[in-house]
Amino acid sequence: MLFDWWWLRSPGKYSNSAAGVDNNGSLISTSYGYNQNSWYVDGKGGVRPALWLDIKSLIHNDSASYAEWVERCKHIAEKNKLVAEEERKLRKYHEADRKLSAKDYFGALKIFKKLDDYGDASSRVDEVQKQIIKAQELKLWEEREKEKKRIKADQERIAWKEYEREKQREAEEAYKLNKYQSAIKMLESKDYEAAYKEFIALGSYRDAAAIARTAKKEQLVEEQRQAEEKRKAEEKRKAEKMRRAEAQRQAEEKRRAEAQRQAEDIRRAEAQSKMWQMQGLCKYCGGKLSVFGKKCKICGKQN
Ligand SMILES: [Zn+2]
Repeated sequence: MLFDWWWLRSPGKYSNSAAGVDNNGSLISTSYGYNQNSWYVDGKGGVRPALWLDIKSLIHNDSASYAEWVERCKHIAEKNKLVAEEERKLRKYHEADRKLSAKDYFGALKIFKKLDDYGDASSRVDEVQKQIIKAQELKLWEEREKEKKRIKADQERIAWKEYEREKQREAEEAYKLNKYQSAIKMLESKDYEAAYKEFIALGSYRDAAAIARTAKKEQLVEEQRQAEEKRKAEEKRKAEKMRRAEAQRQAEEKRRAEAQRQAEDIRRAEAQSKMWQMQGLCKYCGGKLSVFGKKCKICGKQN
């Protein structure tokens, strides 16, 4: 069976392919794109064994064909060197492809640039450069999208916070309004001290500060009024007490004077009666008495 190519030990483009050498001595691999099946490991090709031969041990130095052998060996060595170089380049080419698969664009680009004169390496350079630009653009686009999302989330968070603050403000407003209204009621019921405390606690809410001042003034006025009222009541109470004491004193005096007067009247009447008795008249009325029986001719009383 004849084959027009042979296997090399170097790997091919894919894990199940290998490099080979074709019948004109150039390197072939699946990366070259023609008749690809030939170079998968189940393809049919020749195998060139690698041998180390000591030519000198086979042919005598003085043999006529010796020079010819040396020339041929030189030629083969030259060819082998070229093939080895081609193989090295192919390995590099595949390495660049692997880097590309792993998205190491710059690593691949560096290799393809070095391989410039090899195969389609120069067009691969353009391709990778385009991919780099695309990848960078994609990255930029992704970053922009991410940024947009972040901004949107931030805005939502800010809006939510604002909403919560608004709710809190409303609750505070309702609470303060309630306090304010109850303080107004305190003011109306003249509980100035409590009202003052409430309005002070309300701080800068509406006209609370002004009302607090008014409440304080009203409180002072009220306190003064109450003190005045108390003082007047006390005065009145004292005056009443004095008036009562005076009336009692006067009544006592009057009673005493009356008693004195009565005593004087009795004393005077007794003196008169004595005088009348001494003059032999009626001791009751000073009337003349009858000679017999000592009976008053005026009042008729028995003396
Ligand atoms: Zn008499």
